[in-house]
Amino acid sequence: MASRRIFLQQAGLVAASVAYSPLTLAGWQKKDRLGIALVGLGYYSTDLLAPALQQTKKCYLAGIVTGTPSKAEQWMKKYNLPEKNVYNYQNFDQIANNKDIDVVYVVLPPSMHREYVIRAANAGKHVWCEKPMAITERECQDMIDACRKNKQKLAIGYRLQHEPNTKQYVKLLRDGKIGKIKTVNCAAGYVENRTNHWKQKKELGGGVMYDMGVYSLQGARLATGEEPISLTAEQSTSRPEIYKNGLDETSVARLVFPSGAVANIRTSFGQNVNYLKVVGEKGTLNMEPYSAYAGVKGEATGGIVIDHPYQVPWQQANQMDDDADHILNNRAMPVPGEEGLKDIRIVEAIYRAAKSGQSVKLT
Ligand code: NAD
Repeated sequence: MASRRIFLQQAGLVAASVAYSPLTLAGWQKKDRLGIALVGLGYYSTDLLAPALQQTKKCYLAGIVTGTPSKAEQWMKKYNLPEKNVYNYQNFDQIANNKDIDVVYVVLPPSMHREYVIRAANAGKHVWCEKPMAITERECQDMIDACRKNKQKLAIGYRLQHEPNTKQYVKLLRDGKIGKIKTVNCAAGYVENRTNHWKQKKELGGGVMYDMGVYSLQGARLATGEEPISLTAEQSTSRPEIYKNGLDETSVARLVFPSGAVANIRTSFGQNVNYLKVVGEKGTLNMEPYSAYAGVKGEATGGIVIDHPYQVPWQQANQMDDDADHILNNRAMPVPGEEGLKDIRIVEAIYRAAKSGQSVKLT
């Protein structure tokens, strides 16, 4: 290791010595595109990420990890993937020896994120992980630690943080365009008609607060720019035969921030809702929809219009290119594991508050 560092320094590649990844060591040449392996070929990988990876400029679909041999066949044909870049959950760790794969993107049910992020990091790959990052703060920390130990970067798939309409509203709030923020109302929900999916299984990471709830939390945290200090919450269901044993179909919470700002968040598998409304001392900001795959738009006091249009799946392509660019240039990830952990910490507090009926402090 020491002699390799000396060689890199002598070769004038000091920056490259910071990260010992195949990316920087392969032939001493920096790649201009990263090879991505998708883990879990369900809805999001199939309908959004793989199509987006046909548009990306800084990364491309290089491999897959699936437990279903028929899917492997289909994907190899459709995306022209070599058999050597196709893994299953048992032989996944051999990905360590595959120079085509720079980043592993974990797109599995939330209960499986911890295991696959850690296995990917141990295999010497950078990792992107879908939201919600994991089930507990402890799991999130384990994932962060594993990536750090292996000198691999970790990003959470919060696509909106890379998105131009979201960036514009965050900037105008930070610039004080509507003054000191008083209240935030944010809602994320859709009618989920599946009844036996992982979203209805607690042990797989089900429950709406984990799934759609993190969007409403992101809205509250991005709008205020703060972390909540206390909260109260209520959870309910109109379909008790499906949402049972403490599994929430609808969650509402009231978060109090250090500045005194208050956020009311709502998330549901029984209602189509998608908005962010912010009231400040000098005006208002409204985004609706605020978290869709396309069509995100809004307006703010002073005649400000927020409307940068694009088509599905540009948002996912933009997120992956942005993350790839940060890896290629060895910069800190814009949406790191710590950001996912912050949300999961609050999600856990919301479940505690709903169960106890008491206010929960987050200090
Ligand atoms: P999905 O159910 O459609 O796909 C899950 C995949 O995991 C399937 O291929 C399934 O075969 C595989 N799997 C492996 N082991 C499994 C097990 N024990 N039980 C169930 N499935 C198993 O789910 P999805 O909608 O693609 O969601 C996957 C991840 O992507 C989740 O974390 C979800 O929150 C996230 N997601 C993010 C967005 C976004 O906009 N960022 C959108 C949709 C989903």
